[in-house]
Amino acid sequence: MGRGDGTEGSACHVSHSIRVPGAPGPGRKAGSHGRRLGPPPPRAGPGYAAGMKLQEFHARELLHAAGLPVPPGRVATTPDEVASAAAELLDAGHRAVVVKAQVLVGGRGKAGGVKLASTVDEARAVGAAILGMDIKGITVRKVLVAPAADIAHEFYLGAVLDRAAQRILVMGSAQGGVEIEQVAKESPEAIVRMHAHPHLGLLDWQARQIAFALGLGEHLGAAAAIAKGLVRVMVDNDADLVEVNPLAIVREPGPGGAASERLVCLDAKITLDDSALVRHPDLEARRDLGEEDPADTEARKQEINFIHLDGSIGCLVNGAGLAMTTMDLVKRAGGEPANFLDIGGGAKAEHVSAAMRLILADPKVRAILVNIFGGITRGDEVARGLVEARSQQIREVPMVVRIVGTNAAEAAGILRAASFVTATSLEEAAERAVAAVRGAEAAATSEAAR
Ligand code: GDP
Ligand code: MN
Repeated sequence: MGRGDGTEGSACHVSHSIRVPGAPGPGRKAGSHGRRLGPPPPRAGPGYAAGMKLQEFHARELLHAAGLPVPPGRVATTPDEVASAAAELLDAGHRAVVVKAQVLVGGRGKAGGVKLASTVDEARAVGAAILGMDIKGITVRKVLVAPAADIAHEFYLGAVLDRAAQRILVMGSAQGGVEIEQVAKESPEAIVRMHAHPHLGLLDWQARQIAFALGLGEHLGAAAAIAKGLVRVMVDNDADLVEVNPLAIVREPGPGGAASERLVCLDAKITLDDSALVRHPDLEARRDLGEEDPADTEARKQEINFIHLDGSIGCLVNGAGLAMTTMDLVKRAGGEPANFLDIGGGAKAEHVSAAMRLILADPKVRAILVNIFGGITRGDEVARGLVEARSQQIREVPMVVRIVGTNAAEAAGILRAASFVTATSLEEAAERAVAAVRGAEAAATSEAAR
């Protein structure tokens, strides 16, 4: 990861502690055999790095490859492609098709992004309606066309990393289809929870117990196999989340016309651990750049660990620990960091200017705090990067720079010649940055009053 493999650099673990503010803690509700426990771990909210999400059709492929029952489907990007995919499925004897928006947000169904069609023309029309649709701020560019399922019941089944327990947590609920967060809030007792063994995965009895708690009856064996499969998919792909909602009992026409029932994964959601993607180049290749924040794409290209936050002070730091400390001191001085940013060890001038561009691209940034502890990273190199970045700067933002360690004296000379505001201690730097933000805010207020 990154350039820094030593004391500076790589923030692999940091992004995790930031993105899950309060993993499932010990405050669980005691239940029967301690199985029905408290609310599920919170999801990453907007503004936090959230791992790499796979599109549903990619997630379905992974589940299918692991031997789980997933209906076939085809991706289409135009209404005509939707029509031809539908024609194929209808010709093969399916009664109808489902057209599903492929966007990396939940609640597509509610937003009108999942629709059934029973003729080719209808499928084309539905495709035209969904393609280009806006779902939670994202424009739909692809849809999945699959045989429509005749759903008898919807369940929830998911595996998530429980950081507090250092285990994979499998959760199931008979109230599937709806958002699990809502179930957790309104009726936490309706969720069954089971921790998988770190080496052995979900054990048979555990998988059966989940299936039993969900009331799966004749589908108990199939459900248990799926529960175990989710954990396998999670481990094999270094995922943080593998979720099937709905896991559905569907009615299918049997051989002699008699209907039979089957358990299938009708939706699939997988989030991969960013830090483990180096081990999965095939999965990395499935990243949907069209739906990624351009700042994140740029940061990855430059090997900068960048996490967007909500404050007004942009922080440019080398080393994950130092970046955390810097954020803490900004807070202590009464400010709010706009980001976590670690340029890594041995960063060159061009990384510094790239980092500066990332920070300035956020309109909320009112001041910038640069805090460099030179080790492998050379202070003069960073200083040169800052001078270059400022010459290309598109808007004026006050900046406070603190550079200590390797080549600090050379750095100080460069910064002095370029009239930068500098600070010697981190406390001082943080205070000055906060003062600069207050100054900018006061100026904006009096401007507005005039
Ligand atoms: P999400 O809303 O983004 O989670 O998308 P889903 O894939 O979970 O679809 C939402 C809902 O649409 C499901 O809970 C089902 O009720 C419904 N749905 C999805 N696929 C089918 C299907 O093949 N047939 C029928 N009848 N309903 C479906
Ligand atoms: Mn769903």
